[in-house]
Amino acid sequence: MNEQLGGLKKGMIVSPIENGTVIDHLPPGRAVRIAQMLGLMEGAVVIIGQNLKSTKYGRKDLIKVENRFLTDEECSRIAIFAPEATVNIIKNYELVEKRKVSIPDVVEGIAVCSNANCITNKEPVPTRMLTVSRSPVKMACHYCGYEVRAEDLRFRG
Ligand SMILES: [Zn+2]
Repeated sequence: MNEQLGGLKKGMIVSPIENGTVIDHLPPGRAVRIAQMLGLMEGAVVIIGQNLKSTKYGRKDLIKVENRFLTDEECSRIAIFAPEATVNIIKNYELVEKRKVSIPDVVEGIAVCSNANCITNKEPVPTRMLTVSRSPVKMACHYCGYEVRAEDLRFRG
């Protein structure tokens, strides 16, 4: 445990938080995108670390958000972009829980199909994206079969 876990361990680069969530081990360059996808940028205190040194992965991104805890559904959305991510729950400055994320089989309603002719882009039909590959992560539209890599997946809003 000598990695930078948001200042909880040695290598303090960002101040610790009292209560909230530290999303760790994100691939470099993905933190802002993930924070936006989760709607963390609206109102909450968010600290984003980019290209931090990681003993395991070389470089990593990290997100710290105060007074916000993630649902299982939000954790599985993180997994689409960062299958190796860990979600650390902090209470009273203590790490109380460390969760691994897992890639969901289906993502409903929030992703946008990249096929302009897809029914989900023409009619008020909720999207339904199926995971067709986990390494690398690829999703396919349930309705039109259009495939996208995780990094090209777009979300509503
Ligand atoms: Zn589609």
